[in-house]
Amino acid sequence: MPVHLPDFSVAVVGGGPAGLMAAETLAHAGVRVDVYDAMPSVGRKFLLAGRGGLNLTHSEPAPAFRARFGSRAAQVATWLDDFDAQALRTRADDLGADTFVGSSGRVFPREMKAAPLLRRWLQRLRASGVTLHARHRWQGWSDKGELVLNTPDGQVTRRADAVVLALGGASWARLGSDGAWQGVLTEKGVQTCPLLPANGGFLTPWSDYFSTHFAGQPLKSIAMAPPGQAMRRGECMVTADGLEGGLVYAWSAPLRDALLAQGVAQVQIDLLPARSPEQVRREVMHPRGSRSWSSHLGSRLGLKGVKLGLLRECLPKAVFEQADALAAAIKCLPVSLHGMRPLDEAISTAGGVSFSSLDPNLMLCVMPGVFCAGEMLDWEAPTGGYLLTACFASGHAAGRGVLRYLGQ
Ligand SMILES: Cc1cc2nc3c(=O)[nH]c(=O)nc-3n(C[C@H](O)[C@H](O)[C@H](O)COP(=O)(O)OP(=O)(O)OC[C@H]3O[C@@H](n4cnc5c(N)ncnc54)[C@H](O)[C@@H]3O)c2cc1C
Repeated sequence: MPVHLPDFSVAVVGGGPAGLMAAETLAHAGVRVDVYDAMPSVGRKFLLAGRGGLNLTHSEPAPAFRARFGSRAAQVATWLDDFDAQALRTRADDLGADTFVGSSGRVFPREMKAAPLLRRWLQRLRASGVTLHARHRWQGWSDKGELVLNTPDGQVTRRADAVVLALGGASWARLGSDGAWQGVLTEKGVQTCPLLPANGGFLTPWSDYFSTHFAGQPLKSIAMAPPGQAMRRGECMVTADGLEGGLVYAWSAPLRDALLAQGVAQVQIDLLPARSPEQVRREVMHPRGSRSWSSHLGSRLGLKGVKLGLLRECLPKAVFEQADALAAAIKCLPVSLHGMRPLDEAISTAGGVSFSSLDPNLMLCVMPGVFCAGEMLDWEAPTGGYLLTACFASGHAAGRGVLRYLGQ
């Protein structure tokens, strides 16, 4: 007998990009969908991402794109096979986003905001029969296998033929995703990996002088890498107690892992990546007469302000007596990191529901009919649009997984 999908009702818990994408995929196939979200409105983190310009995805070729997911590249690739960066662009354009590729290859909506896109998307979801329930905080399951939800009118239970959990990671808890799902799922026998900050800032014990004079200043046109890795160019920000920003985020996974293993991590900074070691050496060795090092480095190499401050902060005074060593340090300045900013402040979360707990349809092996998607799964990626793309793609994959499950 053919399966009649409108006879089925699916609950999507979590109205972020992953949950809404799952809802769309399901509604498109004619399934009744209810989206439950704990917050007074859905998509709050997506809206916040929009404040930074909403880097939706990246235009680089697929092999490079997929490699951004590191040890989880193979798993994420299965989602991207069905819904990749171009599919996301097409979908966003279809919603009037009019995306464009920035100079770095990153893809943004023309309006550089999430709100118009989200508004049009929600209109379309409602029109296709999706019902959104705000202020419905999922607590787990009742003895009868129904969803238990806390609402302003008290606790309610809801039955569904299948459930997609898209509850997000555990950063920026005030926007809704607080990682509380971890306890509920662990109790059900679902394997999870610890939730850790990804794309977050690092701590380093600056001197009072450096912190007072340079906190809030950008380190522009530098390159950075942990020892033994190829330098990446970019910029970051000096904070009162460490470093933040894109270039640091790009290295945050190996740095975090080094911190966890050894209690301390190191990055090396090239303060003048546009100049060769030989050029730097030549300028440093140039006779400086009675000039101070500050004015010598400033006039010969343009090294001043926060860059010069960092050099002085991280080098023993004695190095300034050895021109050779000083030149080498300008190209490879070691900075020790002693900790990471808290998970709640991070852009995203590493860890989550382990892939060994999921079947290829993203269904929990120990809970048939329950699927997971988005940042709550155990993958991570740098900033650059990879996070949102994987969230959308996994939501699409979970929706497709539910359809296959119901079709059986
Ligand atoms: C400042 C900032 C900027 C960012 N900028 C970008 C960017 O430019 N590009 C990019 O690719 N990524 C960016 N990200 C990351 C991106 O926003 C997230 O990866 C993405 O939103 C995760 O989607 P998700 O659907 O998995 O989870 P979320 O967006 O976190 O959604 C989860 C939803 O689940 C709900 N929920 C949680 N628990 C419950 C519960 N118990 N009951 C009911 N509902 C619940 C929450 O309220 C929330 O609505 C940024 C993140 C931050 C913090």
